[in-house]
Amino acid sequence: MSTVIKNALIYDAYTWGEKKDIKIDDGEITMVGENVSADEEIDLNGYSILPGFFDAHMHLVSGSELFSDESLKEWAQSGILTVRDMGFGGKQTLEEFVEWVNSINTNPETAQVVTAGRFITAPHGYGHIMGGHENGIAVKGAEEAKEAVLKMKKLGCHGIKTAADMERFDPETPVLSAEEFKALIEEARKNNMWIGAHIQHTEYMRVLLEANIPEFAHMSLDNVPDEMLREMVEKNIYVTPTLSVIDAPRPPLPPGELPPEMKEMMEKMAAIDTHEQEQNAIDNVRRFVEMGGKVALGTDTMRMTESDKKQGIPIHELELLQQAGLSMQQLVTAATLNSAHVCGLDNEQGSIKAGKTANLIAIKGELGEDVNVFKNVDFVMHYGKVIKS
Ligand SMILES: [Zn+2]
Repeated sequence: MSTVIKNALIYDAYTWGEKKDIKIDDGEITMVGENVSADEEIDLNGYSILPGFFDAHMHLVSGSELFSDESLKEWAQSGILTVRDMGFGGKQTLEEFVEWVNSINTNPETAQVVTAGRFITAPHGYGHIMGGHENGIAVKGAEEAKEAVLKMKKLGCHGIKTAADMERFDPETPVLSAEEFKALIEEARKNNMWIGAHIQHTEYMRVLLEANIPEFAHMSLDNVPDEMLREMVEKNIYVTPTLSVIDAPRPPLPPGELPPEMKEMMEKMAAIDTHEQEQNAIDNVRRFVEMGGKVALGTDTMRMTESDKKQGIPIHELELLQQAGLSMQQLVTAATLNSAHVCGLDNEQGSIKAGKTANLIAIKGELGEDVNVFKNVDFVMHYGKVIKS
């Protein structure tokens, strides 16, 4: 059965506020045009229609949490139809996690998940040991790097997460070499996987630039010189800035006496001016985007069962990107096409045109400059099925 959505104003990376019909067959957009007919008609007169939004940086499971379809249902209802897990940290096995991801990924009621599986990093590098246990995969040399990528691929992961940064304020933190990063990137490409690197300090950017990493999974918290930003633009490196996590309230201290090293780290963390870091990152994003750099939408949300983190479309992240000078069309592009790109899904998702999956959201009225309108998504179609109207 075919469906046509009529009278809505289309807003995506390519089209801005044009009224056109959208035809859908078997979950796929097959035509965008005028006077289109189909078996079934949905009239969205007075609405703006956009591609489904992404959250391209989350950590779905950490510690002893269980996998939850509920959060994924809430995200889908809110208009987030695809989420990217940027590093698994659960107590369960990665096999169990991927099995669960595969079991929900055909369900229109839940947001689709793509996952990096475990961090691939240097021995004792960022992401290797977390919360006292071995969370990442440590590699030494190009061969081990390639093997680790193949291991993630074999497990059913969709991409690779790596890192070039210091861990726990330790400037001596080991970092993979440019050759090792290059091996990761090459092997990921060969296996049709995306790859992004955690980075928060400019001093670690050089090695990633040298290796031509396709994505920075955060924006630096200190000033990035213009020439480096320009090099990123020239190399078509995407950035998922995750601005809203920088100055977010810190989690409460665990109860009881803390081990001395933990206490020391907490004190160091408390001494950081996170507001200043946020402003630095915003300024970096502003200059990067002015130069033509592409950003994606991500929040670095942890723990999907924490109710206060079930935020749906991340309004605050959009506000901070707006502070960095992004126009509404640039914001929508970040949340859709650019995020689809970093998730390796831009052939199927991220815009409203023939050949793409019918992942569509609608809000009342014409889209202006106010991001608060995304708190109220009135209509959601996922894989061609209406799940909210
Ligand atoms: Zn993260």
